[in-house]
Amino acid sequence: MGSPTVVVVGAGQAGSDTAAALRSQGFAGRIVLVGDEDALPYRKPLLSKEYLVGDPEGEDTALRPASFYAGQGIELRTGDPAVRIDREGRRLVLASGEELGYDHLVLATGARPRRLSVPGAELDGVLALRTLADARTLRTALAGTGDLLVVGGGFIGLEVAAAARASGVRVTVVETRDRLMGRSVSAPTARYLAEQHTAHGVRLLLSEELTALHGEEGRVRVAELGRGERIRADLVVAGVGVLPNTALAADAGLEVGDGILVDPRLRTADPRIHAIGDCARFPSRHAPRHLRLESVQNAADQARSVAAAIHAPADPPPYDAVPWFWTRQYGARLQIAGITDGHDRTVTVGDPAGGRFSVFCFRDGLLLGTESVNRPADHMITRRLLATGDRSLTPEAVAAPGFDLKHRQPQPA
Ligand SMILES: Cc1cc2nc3c(=O)[nH]c(=O)nc-3n(C[C@H](O)[C@H](O)[C@H](O)COP(=O)(O)OP(=O)(O)OC[C@H]3O[C@@H](n4cnc5c(N)ncnc54)[C@H](O)[C@@H]3O)c2cc1C
Repeated sequence: MGSPTVVVVGAGQAGSDTAAALRSQGFAGRIVLVGDEDALPYRKPLLSKEYLVGDPEGEDTALRPASFYAGQGIELRTGDPAVRIDREGRRLVLASGEELGYDHLVLATGARPRRLSVPGAELDGVLALRTLADARTLRTALAGTGDLLVVGGGFIGLEVAAAARASGVRVTVVETRDRLMGRSVSAPTARYLAEQHTAHGVRLLLSEELTALHGEEGRVRVAELGRGERIRADLVVAGVGVLPNTALAADAGLEVGDGILVDPRLRTADPRIHAIGDCARFPSRHAPRHLRLESVQNAADQARSVAAAIHAPADPPPYDAVPWFWTRQYGARLQIAGITDGHDRTVTVGDPAGGRFSVFCFRDGLLLGTESVNRPADHMITRRLLATGDRSLTPEAVAAPGFDLKHRQPQPA
């Protein structure tokens, strides 16, 4: 048998990391990385932070230089979307008509922004942020904007709001829920973020919804809200979530449902096809339900795990990394370790008013995770506790005077 071929669909974080991990783990076969965008794989976190405010740190967005792929013998096909998987013939068909035979196929197709569904959503000046091209458009638009409306108080919307404030733009955030980041963080952390945005001059409209956008000469000018208020908006950014790119998998008869369904080893029902990153839904011991995670950690860790499984397939261990996330807004670095959604008790340690604290989240007395603002040690130690399965930390211990996670000895699982 000749050396095997791995084809990776999606030249983003997960795809690029898979190709790199295969080589660094010693895989000697052919690797083809297929991307639909006309760009080298790049780092998305910069796009809603440094890049938007013209910070030089944000200018070099490439994950790896072009020379890396050439040097590692990774064939990079950009600007050529994959359009069909022929599972029987084990071939991937590209829009250009090229056909790539594979022994293993990795689907790392990511996600696309959910569009606004209100009247006027198609007007010029209504943007979403997912790609480098989107970020270029938004950066240029922000420079000429007086009033920005951000729809959605999640990670992306709030980072865009913070960046826009740094550029002196007037910003309103409208969020249908009664708090920010409702899907991702506890009430104390959400409150802290709301205070930060308000203190920096963002107008926060919670429990409110956008109902229509109105324009002049095809360009957005006014936003109409549920309670009847009309506000000026020269630019609208929708941060209302994403939809995983599952069409390729679904057309090939693989099971999908808010993500491509995979087993604990990130395999689809077809043993030659894995799915990873934002497009994949997987079982995890760190949550009661299947997860689809949108984070660099998840994309990078799953890439390494799948590369190892392809390279040495005898008995790959299940994917088991502890999920973690981060965001940066106005100099506050929020790090989340674990899946804190579903908690029934929180204990806050530290000084929220001074911008240094951690919220420990529990369910039935068991630690689910920690949300830390500018307390990186709590974040790192929680990740270790969750990874080793040490569940001995109680809400009472955390609430006790003088509690400091750094002084805690790990307990056997
Ligand atoms: C603006 C922004 C800021 C973010 N900030 C953070 C952060 O601070 N921290 C954090 O942890 N995470 C952050 N994320 C999330 C993180 O970037 C994603 O979770 C990560 O990029 C997922 O990697 P992926 O490879 O699964 O998907 P992507 O990086 O989206 O890559 C998928 C690629 O596949 C391509 N593709 C899709 N279909 C096809 C096809 N048929 N053929 C070929 N190519 C295809 C897509 O166009 C895309 O290029 C941010 C995301 C965005 C958009």
